[in-house]
Amino acid sequence: MKALAVTLPLPYRPEDIRHYLEIVTGKTVYLTLIEDSPSIVSWRETPEGDFRIRLHRILLGADEAIFSEVAEGINKDRNRFPLMREFIRRNRTELLQSDQSRGKVSTKGRAYELDKIYADINRQYFANGVTAGITWGRNSRKRGIRQRTLGCYDERTRVIRINPCLDRKNIPLYVIESVVYHEMLHAFLGIQIVEGRRRMHTPQFRRMERGFSDYEKARKWEEDHGYR
Ligand SMILES: [Zn+2]
Repeated sequence: MKALAVTLPLPYRPEDIRHYLEIVTGKTVYLTLIEDSPSIVSWRETPEGDFRIRLHRILLGADEAIFSEVAEGINKDRNRFPLMREFIRRNRTELLQSDQSRGKVSTKGRAYELDKIYADINRQYFANGVTAGITWGRNSRKRGIRQRTLGCYDERTRVIRINPCLDRKNIPLYVIESVVYHEMLHAFLGIQIVEGRRRMHTPQFRRMERGFSDYEKARKWEEDHGYR
């Protein structure tokens, strides 16, 4: 156990945590931050001997003693984390509050209701595992500028924004569903950090993205309408 020889700089960035876990475990670590998971920390060793570690994003606010405990647990393959459990107990209310302060949210559009689309997709594809918020974005005042970004996911506030240009009856439902599904997938998988860089569209992401039933149809629509 080499944890005492390593210190984490404050405030923690995901890459710092990944690097720390790498030094302490002596293995190559692939870190994924997740927000929706029954477990706060999980890991597996690959056949190549690397560690795939998934941490709940709430741990970004934890102190070094907790990461030391996590690293030791992983090293000894033991799933007992009393310090971490105490940290989560203390921070639970804060976590709930931050969920409520995501800013103004509007889901009822003129043509489509986002919360219904979101709930259907969550049930059908994610076993209701996504807890991110969703809202129509604000209308851009600049006319003549084509909005090419149909949706985005803010990992800090955990809010999905959908471009209001899609809130029209002549836009097929499967197009909106496909955009919502894409952003929900970001929330579901978390943002992976590889060699210090945020990886959004990993091979796993692309594979799961094709799991949406109208994937090809929606892609074609976006191409035909100049969004790709
Ligand atoms: Zn994306």
